[in-house]
Amino acid sequence: MTTSQFLEVDNIEVLYSQAILALRGISLRVEKGSIVALLGANGAGKTTTLKAISNLLASERGHLSRGTITWHGEVTRKLDPADLVARGVVQVLEGRHVFPQLTVEENLLSGGFVRRPSRRALADDLERIYSWFPRLKQRSGVRCGLTSGGEQQMVVIGRAMMTRPTLVLLDEPSMGLAPIIVEEIFRIIRDLNRNEGISFLLAEQNAHLVLQFADHGYVLENGRVAASGSAAELAGRDDVAEFYLGTA
Ligand code: ATP
Repeated sequence: MTTSQFLEVDNIEVLYSQAILALRGISLRVEKGSIVALLGANGAGKTTTLKAISNLLASERGHLSRGTITWHGEVTRKLDPADLVARGVVQVLEGRHVFPQLTVEENLLSGGFVRRPSRRALADDLERIYSWFPRLKQRSGVRCGLTSGGEQQMVVIGRAMMTRPTLVLLDEPSMGLAPIIVEEIFRIIRDLNRNEGISFLLAEQNAHLVLQFADHGYVLENGRVAASGSAAELAGRDDVAEFYLGTA
Protein backbone atom coordinates (compact mmCIF):
# COMPACT_ATOMS: atom_id res chain seq x y z
CA MET A 1 0.00 0.00 0.00
CA THR A 2 1.25 3.48 -0.80
CA THR A 3 0.64 6.05 1.89
CA SER A 4 0.18 9.69 1.08
CA GLN A 5 1.66 12.31 3.33
CA PHE A 6 -1.79 13.49 4.31
CA LEU A 7 -5.01 11.49 4.86
CA GLU A 8 -5.36 8.05 3.31
CA VAL A 9 -8.32 5.74 3.93
CA ASP A 10 -7.71 2.29 2.54
CA ASN A 11 -10.53 -0.21 2.10
CA ILE A 12 -12.20 0.27 5.48
CA GLU A 13 -15.14 -1.65 6.82
CA VAL A 14 -17.06 -0.52 9.90
CA LEU A 15 -19.14 -2.80 12.03
CA TYR A 16 -21.68 -1.48 14.53
CA SER A 17 -23.31 -3.56 17.23
CA GLN A 18 -25.90 -6.10 16.11
CA ALA A 19 -23.64 -6.94 13.16
CA ILE A 20 -24.57 -3.86 11.12
CA LEU A 21 -21.89 -3.47 8.46
CA ALA A 22 -22.12 0.27 7.74
CA LEU A 23 -19.04 0.63 5.54
CA ARG A 24 -18.16 -2.10 3.05
CA GLY A 25 -14.69 -1.23 1.81
CA ILE A 26 -14.25 2.52 1.41
CA SER A 27 -11.05 4.03 0.09
CA LEU A 28 -10.45 7.73 -0.25
CA ARG A 29 -7.74 10.29 0.13
CA VAL A 30 -7.55 13.93 1.03
CA GLU A 31 -4.62 15.83 -0.40
CA LYS A 32 -3.06 18.56 1.68
CA GLY A 33 -4.77 21.90 1.06
CA SER A 34 -7.84 20.48 -0.64
CA ILE A 35 -11.58 20.46 -0.01
CA VAL A 36 -13.10 17.01 -0.50
CA ALA A 37 -16.85 16.37 -0.56
CA LEU A 38 -18.45 13.21 0.75
CA LEU A 39 -21.85 12.86 -0.88
CA GLY A 40 -24.68 10.39 -0.63
CA ALA A 41 -28.20 9.87 0.63
CA ASN A 42 -29.26 9.35 4.26
CA GLY A 43 -27.63 6.27 5.66
CA ALA A 44 -25.03 5.95 2.86
CA GLY A 45 -22.19 6.03 5.38
CA LYS A 46 -20.92 9.62 5.40
CA THR A 47 -21.04 10.17 9.16
CA THR A 48 -19.57 6.73 9.81
CA THR A 49 -16.66 7.51 7.50
CA LEU A 50 -15.90 10.76 9.32
CA LYS A 51 -16.14 9.08 12.73
CA ALA A 52 -13.87 6.28 11.57
CA ILE A 53 -11.25 8.87 10.60
CA SER A 54 -11.48 10.79 13.90
CA ASN A 55 -11.69 7.58 15.94
CA LEU A 56 -15.07 8.43 17.39
CA LEU A 57 -16.68 5.09 16.58
CA ALA A 58 -16.25 3.58 20.03
CA SER A 59 -18.84 5.93 21.51
CA GLU A 60 -21.28 4.56 18.91
CA ARG A 61 -20.38 0.97 19.73
CA GLY A 62 -18.76 0.60 16.34
CA HIS A 63 -15.27 -0.34 15.21
CA LEU A 64 -13.05 -0.64 12.18
CA SER A 65 -13.34 -4.30 11.22
CA ARG A 66 -11.06 -4.07 8.21
CA GLY A 67 -8.76 -1.65 6.41
CA THR A 68 -6.34 1.07 7.42
CA ILE A 69 -6.41 4.81 7.94
CA THR A 70 -3.15 6.74 7.85
CA TRP A 71 -2.46 10.34 8.71
CA HIS A 72 0.89 11.64 7.49
CA GLY A 73 1.84 8.00 7.01
CA GLU A 74 1.00 7.00 10.61
CA VAL A 75 -1.63 4.31 11.15
CA THR A 76 -4.28 5.93 13.37
CA ARG A 77 -5.96 2.80 14.73
CA LYS A 78 -4.51 3.05 18.24
CA LEU A 79 -4.84 6.81 18.65
CA ASP A 80 -7.66 8.30 20.64
CA PRO A 81 -9.66 11.29 19.37
CA ALA A 82 -7.61 13.73 21.49
CA ASP A 83 -4.38 12.37 19.97
CA LEU A 84 -5.80 13.08 16.55
CA VAL A 85 -6.80 16.60 17.55
CA ALA A 86 -3.25 17.13 18.79
CA ARG A 87 -2.01 15.96 15.38
CA GLY A 88 -4.28 18.41 13.56
CA VAL A 89 -7.42 16.38 12.77
CA VAL A 90 -10.65 17.71 14.26
CA GLN A 91 -14.26 16.75 13.60
CA VAL A 92 -17.26 19.06 13.75
CA LEU A 93 -20.17 16.81 14.55
CA GLU A 94 -23.53 16.96 12.84
CA GLY A 95 -26.17 18.91 14.75
CA ARG A 96 -24.38 22.02 16.07
CA HIS A 97 -23.64 20.94 19.62
CA VAL A 98 -23.01 24.18 21.48
CA PHE A 99 -23.12 24.81 25.22
CA PRO A 100 -26.38 26.79 25.27
CA GLN A 101 -25.82 28.44 28.67
CA LEU A 102 -22.35 29.69 27.75
CA THR A 103 -21.71 32.77 25.64
CA VAL A 104 -20.43 32.61 22.08
CA GLU A 105 -16.97 33.57 23.32
CA GLU A 106 -16.97 30.98 26.12
CA ASN A 107 -17.98 28.32 23.60
CA LEU A 108 -15.09 29.32 21.35
CA LEU A 109 -12.62 29.34 24.24
CA SER A 110 -13.71 25.84 25.25
CA GLY A 111 -12.15 24.60 22.00
CA GLY A 112 -8.79 26.15 22.86
CA PHE A 113 -8.09 24.38 26.11
CA VAL A 114 -7.18 21.04 24.57
CA ARG A 115 -3.84 22.57 23.59
CA ARG A 116 -3.23 24.03 27.09
CA PRO A 117 -2.15 27.32 25.56
CA SER A 118 -1.01 30.43 27.38
CA ARG A 119 -3.58 33.14 28.04
CA ARG A 120 -1.92 35.23 25.34
CA ALA A 121 -2.07 32.45 22.72
CA LEU A 122 -5.73 31.88 23.54
CA ALA A 123 -6.50 35.58 23.09
CA ASP A 124 -4.62 35.61 19.77
CA ASP A 125 -6.51 32.57 18.56
CA LEU A 126 -9.80 34.15 19.52
CA GLU A 127 -8.94 37.26 17.52
CA ARG A 128 -8.11 35.09 14.52
CA ILE A 129 -11.49 33.34 14.80
CA TYR A 130 -13.23 36.71 14.98
CA SER A 131 -11.39 37.90 11.88
CA TRP A 132 -12.84 34.92 9.98
CA PHE A 133 -16.28 35.15 11.58
CA PRO A 134 -16.98 38.86 12.19
CA ARG A 135 -20.56 37.97 13.02
CA LEU A 136 -19.34 36.01 16.04
CA LYS A 137 -17.44 39.02 17.32
CA GLN A 138 -20.67 41.04 17.27
CA ARG A 139 -22.41 38.23 19.17
CA SER A 140 -19.52 37.34 21.49
CA GLY A 141 -21.36 38.08 24.75
CA VAL A 142 -24.64 36.43 23.80
CA ARG A 143 -25.57 33.06 25.26
CA CYS A 144 -25.28 30.46 22.52
CA GLY A 145 -28.75 29.12 23.19
CA LEU A 146 -30.11 32.47 22.04
CA THR A 147 -28.20 32.62 18.75
CA SER A 148 -29.46 31.52 15.32
CA GLY A 149 -28.75 28.16 13.72
CA GLY A 150 -26.30 29.78 11.32
CA GLU A 151 -24.44 31.46 14.17
CA GLN A 152 -24.29 28.17 16.08
CA GLN A 153 -22.82 26.48 13.02
CA MET A 154 -20.18 29.23 12.90
CA VAL A 155 -19.51 28.70 16.61
CA VAL A 156 -18.88 24.97 16.23
CA ILE A 157 -16.58 25.54 13.24
CA GLY A 158 -14.85 28.39 15.09
CA ARG A 159 -14.46 26.21 18.20
CA ALA A 160 -12.84 23.51 16.08
CA MET A 161 -10.49 26.13 14.59
CA MET A 162 -9.30 26.94 18.14
CA THR A 163 -7.49 23.58 18.08
CA ARG A 164 -5.38 24.85 15.14
CA PRO A 165 -6.25 21.97 12.85
CA THR A 166 -4.82 21.16 9.44
CA LEU A 167 -7.75 18.90 8.51
CA VAL A 168 -11.36 19.60 9.52
CA LEU A 169 -14.00 16.89 9.15
CA LEU A 170 -17.31 18.65 8.81
CA ASP A 171 -20.62 16.80 9.01
CA GLU A 172 -23.61 18.33 7.21
CA PRO A 173 -22.85 22.01 7.86
CA SER A 174 -25.85 23.12 5.77
CA MET A 175 -28.45 21.05 7.59
CA GLY A 176 -31.58 23.05 8.38
CA LEU A 177 -30.09 26.42 7.45
CA ALA A 178 -31.40 29.03 5.02
CA PRO A 179 -29.56 29.02 1.66
CA ILE A 180 -28.08 32.48 2.16
CA ILE A 181 -26.55 31.44 5.50
CA VAL A 182 -25.24 28.21 4.00
CA GLU A 183 -23.49 30.21 1.27
CA GLU A 184 -21.94 32.48 3.88
CA ILE A 185 -20.62 29.45 5.77
CA PHE A 186 -19.24 27.83 2.62
CA ARG A 187 -17.54 31.08 1.64
CA ILE A 188 -15.82 31.14 5.03
CA ILE A 189 -14.75 27.50 4.55
CA ARG A 190 -13.30 28.38 1.15
CA ASP A 191 -11.42 31.36 2.62
CA LEU A 192 -10.01 29.21 5.42
CA ASN A 193 -8.89 26.76 2.77
CA ARG A 194 -7.36 29.33 0.42
CA ASN A 195 -5.90 31.74 2.92
CA GLU A 196 -4.94 29.44 5.79
CA GLY A 197 -4.27 26.22 3.85
CA ILE A 198 -6.72 24.21 5.97
CA SER A 199 -8.07 21.05 4.33
CA PHE A 200 -11.70 19.98 4.66
CA LEU A 201 -13.53 16.70 4.30
CA LEU A 202 -17.17 17.70 4.06
CA ALA A 203 -20.11 15.34 4.38
CA GLU A 204 -23.03 16.99 2.65
CA GLN A 205 -26.37 16.14 1.18
CA ASN A 206 -26.47 19.51 -0.58
CA ALA A 207 -24.36 18.18 -3.45
CA HIS A 208 -25.03 21.05 -5.80
CA LEU A 209 -23.55 23.56 -3.44
CA VAL A 210 -20.66 21.57 -2.09
CA LEU A 211 -19.43 20.63 -5.57
CA GLN A 212 -19.06 24.33 -6.34
CA PHE A 213 -16.59 24.65 -3.48
CA ALA A 214 -14.86 21.27 -3.42
CA ASP A 215 -11.82 20.11 -5.40
CA HIS A 216 -12.73 16.45 -5.33
CA GLY A 217 -15.72 14.33 -4.39
CA TYR A 218 -16.78 10.82 -3.43
CA VAL A 219 -20.35 9.61 -3.75
CA LEU A 220 -21.23 6.95 -1.19
CA GLU A 221 -23.99 4.46 -1.62
CA ASN A 222 -24.79 1.71 0.83
CA GLY A 223 -21.38 1.84 2.48
CA ARG A 224 -19.39 1.82 -0.77
CA VAL A 225 -17.88 4.44 -3.07
CA ALA A 226 -20.27 4.55 -6.03
CA ALA A 227 -18.45 7.33 -7.90
CA SER A 228 -15.48 9.62 -7.41
CA GLY A 229 -13.64 12.29 -9.31
CA SER A 230 -12.90 15.98 -9.47
CA ALA A 231 -15.83 18.10 -8.36
CA ALA A 232 -16.26 19.38 -11.92
CA GLU A 233 -16.28 15.83 -13.31
CA LEU A 234 -18.85 14.66 -10.76
CA ALA A 235 -21.09 17.68 -11.26
CA GLY A 236 -21.01 17.05 -15.01
CA ARG A 237 -21.79 13.34 -14.93
CA ASP A 238 -25.36 12.57 -15.93
CA ASP A 239 -25.54 9.35 -13.95
CA VAL A 240 -24.28 11.05 -10.80
CA ALA A 241 -26.66 13.96 -11.31
CA GLU A 242 -29.59 11.67 -11.90
CA PHE A 243 -29.04 9.05 -9.24
CA TYR A 244 -27.14 10.83 -6.49
CA LEU A 245 -27.74 14.52 -6.84
CA GLY A 246 -31.37 14.27 -7.89
CA THR A 247 -30.99 16.95 -10.52
CA ALA A 248 -31.06 15.44 -13.99
P1 ATP B 1 -27.07 10.63 7.55
O1 ATP B 1 -27.01 11.73 6.57
O2 ATP B 1 -28.46 10.16 7.84
O3 ATP B 1 -26.26 10.87 8.80
P2 ATP B 1 -24.93 8.99 6.60
O4 ATP B 1 -24.61 8.90 5.15
O5 ATP B 1 -24.09 9.88 7.41
O6 ATP B 1 -26.43 9.37 6.80
P3 ATP B 1 -24.40 6.94 8.55
O7 ATP B 1 -25.01 7.75 9.65
O8 ATP B 1 -22.94 6.81 8.51
O9 ATP B 1 -24.89 7.50 7.14
O10 ATP B 1 -25.06 5.50 8.57
C1 ATP B 1 -24.61 4.40 7.78
C2 ATP B 1 -25.33 3.14 8.22
O11 ATP B 1 -24.92 2.77 9.54
C3 ATP B 1 -26.83 3.27 8.27
O12 ATP B 1 -27.39 2.04 7.84
C4 ATP B 1 -27.13 3.51 9.72
O13 ATP B 1 -28.41 3.02 10.07
C5 ATP B 1 -26.04 2.69 10.41
N1 ATP B 1 -25.64 3.28 11.70
C6 ATP B 1 -25.19 4.53 11.91
N2 ATP B 1 -24.88 4.72 13.22
C7 ATP B 1 -25.16 3.53 13.84
C8 ATP B 1 -25.03 3.07 15.19
N3 ATP B 1 -24.58 3.87 16.16
N4 ATP B 1 -25.40 1.78 15.47
C9 ATP B 1 -25.86 0.97 14.48
N5 ATP B 1 -25.97 1.34 13.18
C10 ATP B 1 -25.64 2.61 12.87
